[in-house]
Amino acid sequence: ECLSNKIAAGEVVERPASIVKELVENSIDANSTSIHIQVEDGGMQKIRIVDNGDGIENEDCLVAFHRHATSKIRTDKDLFRIKTLGFRGEALPSIASVSYLQLKTCTGNGPGTVVNIEGGKIIESGSSSSRKGTDITVTNLFYNTPARLKYLKTVHTELGNITDYVYRLAMSYPSISFQLDHNGKKVFSSNGNGDLRQVIAAIYGMNIAKQMVYFEGSSLDFKISGYVCKPEVTRASRQYMSTFINYRYIKNYPLTKAIQDGYHTLLPIGRYPVVVLHIEMDPSIIDVNVHPSKLEVRLSKEAELNTLVTNTIKATFKQVSL
Ligand code: ADP
Ligand code: MG
Repeated sequence: ECLSNKIAAGEVVERPASIVKELVENSIDANSTSIHIQVEDGGMQKIRIVDNGDGIENEDCLVAFHRHATSKIRTDKDLFRIKTLGFRGEALPSIASVSYLQLKTCTGNGPGTVVNIEGGKIIESGSSSSRKGTDITVTNLFYNTPARLKYLKTVHTELGNITDYVYRLAMSYPSISFQLDHNGKKVFSSNGNGDLRQVIAAIYGMNIAKQMVYFEGSSLDFKISGYVCKPEVTRASRQYMSTFINYRYIKNYPLTKAIQDGYHTLLPIGRYPVVVLHIEMDPSIIDVNVHPSKLEVRLSKEAELNTLVTNTIKATFKQVSL
């Protein structure tokens, strides 16, 4: 089993950002309202995630490190259907197989559990404090997979990937407070009060957040909402356009085109808006025949959605005095 975990690790955990992603998704699945992410040297030295979620029952702690030990039974088709983000029971065993991992967790009923694992082998387990939630620390990442270690980039690049990922999470879940620290210094935090505009301010700054306009709209199959920036604060890069379907960050070129079309003549050539677009839809009309980590999705009712997006943004700008 150890070897298959290491092979799976190649797919699930290729770099620090993917480890942060898997661990934080578990925290979200466990109903956490506060998630603290601490990384050292771009996550290459240390990754620690502390949440205030449901915790793991004592007897389930060791089981969680076996492959396919998911408590969230489902199939790939359900990817966008179900509320929970994890679904294959691969993340914890994969991460544990290529690092030193400490799990401290407590459900809030009685004492918690601590487990220390090195390269997939359980070194010790016992009881720990009774603070409700889970605290996972990953060190010595890829110490036993030198090829993967070599493939890591600079601290700057790895931290950039982690930060981008945390930004997206904060935009997806304004009701969860996130904090990201790097080498003991706070890089980002969101307050978790549910206000997307405040998340935008935390990411892009108050000047941009003040220039964002709320929009919402719906059609037969879609509900959309979010914020678009006024034309005077557009950017020279597409990277400020964030689109989410059913809380998942996605990339879809026609969709970003539809957003730009909503500006009609207001968008200067070579400029792109700051946008956070949330789409809610029946997951069965998303084509998810892609690897779950892929961000690109296809939609079977693309034309309907794109028209809705363009028209909603157009109407929004007609209403605000620019
Ligand atoms: P999956 O998320 O696909 O179920 P994982 O390997 O990521 O698989 O996690 C295994 C199991 O460990 C989860 O199903 C969940 O029951 C438990 N778990 C992991 N992380 C947490 C956490 N932060 N809080 C509560 N339970 C957790
Ligand atoms: Mg998971």
